[in-house]
Amino acid sequence: MTARILVVEDNPANMKLVSMVLAKGGHHVLQADDAESGVVLAADEQPDLILMDILLPGMDGLEATRRLKTDPLTARIRVVALTAFAMKEDELRIQSAGFDGYIAKPIQYKSFLQEVERWLSESAGPRGPAI
Ligand code: MN
Repeated sequence: MTARILVVEDNPANMKLVSMVLAKGGHHVLQADDAESGVVLAADEQPDLILMDILLPGMDGLEATRRLKTDPLTARIRVVALTAFAMKEDELRIQSAGFDGYIAKPIQYKSFLQEVERWLSESAGPRGPAI
């Protein structure tokens, strides 16, 4: 399944890696290196999935996701956190911001693509399993 995936990530090396893996998986990648442009791009381009870094310059990924989930234009788009945070309190912060789930960094090629495919396959339905 080819999808249009928006990646919001300020670290150039991570952006390059994530974009390369998604492209090799046959997906079309849209890029934003800050949350403000990511939110605008999401509304304009209506991607199938958004992969959102948490720590971003200016607005962070938590606030960006709150905005996406409260705007009727983007509320239905699944937003998955790309995060190195693995602590329980971070998981709760991510969940309460409205993220649909998270993928831990550093990403592993094969499992990353599998997780992305899983989120894409659930995109059309109601909310998936709780994180
Ligand atoms: Mn970052």
